[in-house]
This record gives sequence, structure tokens and C-alpha cells, in this order.
Amino acid sequence: MHPKPPPNYLAAYPAALAAQVRQLIEQGKLADLLRQKYPLAHSVRTDKALYDYVLEAKGEYLGNAGSLSKVAFDSKLHVIQNALGMHTTISRVQGAKLKSKREIRVATMFKDMPPEFLRMIVVHELAHLKEREHNKAFYQLCLHMEPDYHQLEFDLRAYLTYLDATGKQLWLSVRAEASTLTL
Ligand SMILES: [Zn+2]
Repeated sequence: MHPKPPPNYLAAYPAALAAQVRQLIEQGKLADLLRQKYPLAHSVRTDKALYDYVLEAKGEYLGNAGSLSKVAFDSKLHVIQNALGMHTTISRVQGAKLKSKREIRVATMFKDMPPEFLRMIVVHELAHLKEREHNKAFYQLCLHMEPDYHQLEFDLRAYLTYLDATGKQLWLSVRAEASTLTL
């Protein structure tokens, strides 16, 4: 019996690039690199705050492209499913009309991440309101909302690889220190 291999978050990238990330993790260098680049954790702590955050971004870029019935952090989403997060469309009959109900759920682990990573995942989920598949139009929409989208997704995936290897959350301590200071 072979143990199940851990998810490969870097599978879509060139092998040499993925190997470089793993080497940085082994050398103990990746954590500092990421923290230098993204020093702070964001402050979106509740489902309500996330809802407001998502709605503001949606209003800015997508106008009234479908309405969102629910936006929430979801602790059951441990791994990045379906590429990155989960987006559901529930169709149900309301009166005579078939109404689409859209939800955006963000894995709870994103609570303790830098603002750039939260933005990336929200941009990803918002783009799915218009494009279901991860196709060219989808990524163009992501880039329209966040020009640095591809770099952010790569850095996030590097962090997830680090998290898998070490179990250490990089931005948890940043928040703990910050909240101690305000007491
Ligand atoms: Zn997706």
C-alpha cells in the first residue's frame, strides 16, 4: 500500500519552477521570502466583512452580473477544491421563473493570509460569475480585475506547498502580535 501523495499545488507550472519552490522550502528560505513580499495579514474577519468586500469588488468590475445570495468563509473547505475555492450555482424554481442562486465560499484558511491572496481568491470567484471554465476569457477577466493575478496565484500556491510541508501558517503570528498591540 502506498500512502496517498499530498496535493501538488504547482502541477500546472514548469517542473524547474516547482522544484525551485520545493528547494526554497527545504532550505528554510521560502517563509522569509513570502513574508518580505507580503508583510501583513488582511483584516476581513467575518462573513459579513467578506460579503461587503466581495460586493465592493463586484460592483467595481462586474456591475450587476448576477446577484450573490451568499458569501461566506467555509471551514469545511480545507484544500483548494476545483482549482481554488468553490463556486456554486443552485438553480431552483421560484414561482414561474427559474432563478439562479449564486454563492461564493472562501476556505477559512484565507482568513489568515495577506490582503493580496484574499483579493486573488475573490477575483477568481468573481470571474466565475461570468465564466464557468478556467478558459482564456476567464483568466482575462481575472487579469482585468487584478493585473498581478498570475503572480499572486503562483505565490499562493507556493505558500500552500509550504503549508503542506511544514504545517506552519505564516500570517497567524502577524495577527496575534497586532491584536496584542491594540489591547
Ligand atoms: Zn475556479
